[in-house]
Amino acid sequence: MSPQSGGVEPRRIAILGSTGSVGDSTIDIIQRNPSAYDVLALTANGNWEKLAEQARALRPELVALADPAGYAELKGALAGTDIRIVVGEEGLREAASLPSDWVMAAIVGAAGLRPTLEAVKRGAAVALANKECLVSAGTLFMDAVSAHGATLLPVDSEHNAIFQVFDFNQKDKIQKIILTASGGPFRTWSAASMAGVTPGQAVAHPNWSMGAKISVDSATMMNKGLEVIEAHHLFGLPSEKIEIIVHPQSVVHSMVEYADGSVLAQLGSPDMRTPIAYTLGWPDRIGAPSARLDFAALATLEFQAPDPVRFPALRLARSALQTGGAAPTILNAANEVAVARFLAEKVGFLDIAAIVEDTLSRIPNQQLETLEDVMAIDADARRVAAEIKSFGAAAE
Ligand code: NAD
Ligand code: MG
Repeated sequence: MSPQSGGVEPRRIAILGSTGSVGDSTIDIIQRNPSAYDVLALTANGNWEKLAEQARALRPELVALADPAGYAELKGALAGTDIRIVVGEEGLREAASLPSDWVMAAIVGAAGLRPTLEAVKRGAAVALANKECLVSAGTLFMDAVSAHGATLLPVDSEHNAIFQVFDFNQKDKIQKIILTASGGPFRTWSAASMAGVTPGQAVAHPNWSMGAKISVDSATMMNKGLEVIEAHHLFGLPSEKIEIIVHPQSVVHSMVEYADGSVLAQLGSPDMRTPIAYTLGWPDRIGAPSARLDFAALATLEFQAPDPVRFPALRLARSALQTGGAAPTILNAANEVAVARFLAEKVGFLDIAAIVEDTLSRIPNQQLETLEDVMAIDADARRVAAEIKSFGAAAE
């Protein structure tokens, strides 16, 4: 499992969601040390041009395009190569099923759930960026990880930080974990001024460069709410032991507090290539080109309590975790729909949390036993969230 240290076989890689922001950063690290890796599969939603470009550079065995509309173009762009092309959700699952040692799960949203589970079921090492998987189906997902002996390596910067300083052998001595939050672009804005923000303003994150959906989640702070649920499943801690602190510089990526009062943190510049390199090299460390911290230049690190009044998504996510059952699945699905409607300029920024809250109140909670239960509730929540009218912040 550790080709970099032994210099033997290259580690075999699949990247689910290779054309996105995390996909790009993963490929960047791989291309800096190409002999250590053998890329077997790449996947995209609809961007066949970028997928073809990546495939020509990395020469995988297979590429999967979720949206079959671009199949003919992709085929043309890869003519003369022996790269196999597959499409649809079946195709994504096939990409995850190839015998890679390491799978980057970087599809955005619950769309990534089934393909990622496919990799889990092979007992692969899964580098998990896709937090929506854990929010939507956390218990089922973690049960599958242990049943199949898969290795889960958190990529989300906060969870990767905690993973690096979390002593799993002394879990009973861990009093709490502290997730840091940048606060997003509207950290200091009043609720009234947030009512009019545009998608362009919401996706312009002050510290991190990321895909559109997670950037909007950071702006509403739903991202931190989803991360509390993600941390609950990854580290097996109850809601009360997962704290959020706003830290505008995004240098301290998260912390673990122990019984003796020690707090261990992982720090670094806000560049996803550091946590991605950690998972790509694991259990060894490998190089990454992220900017080094210059503490003298940083001078000040600030910490502030989060404000659940201006950022109601924090309260909604926390309450969904405490309620349990289908509530986190509904929260996630409704949020995906609300964010998409906001990005399409159909509803206002403040409508996002309002739509999530309304969807949660309209669907009776239930226990989720199977993946089919999860998918059914997810579909219900999407239908309900798509029909809720704007609460007035923008005309529809
Ligand atoms: P992105 O939008 O840049 O990329 C998403 C990828 O998923 C693309 O390759 C896209 O083609 C693919 N995709 C989208 N919808 C799909 C569908 N329905 N079926 C199949 N493929 C689909 O997103 P991102 O910023 O790279 O984030 C990816 C995941 O990682 C998200 O779950 C996000 O929350 C998480 N994450 C991202 C960052 C970051 O810095 N970008 C940090 C932490 C966690
Ligand atoms: Mg994060």
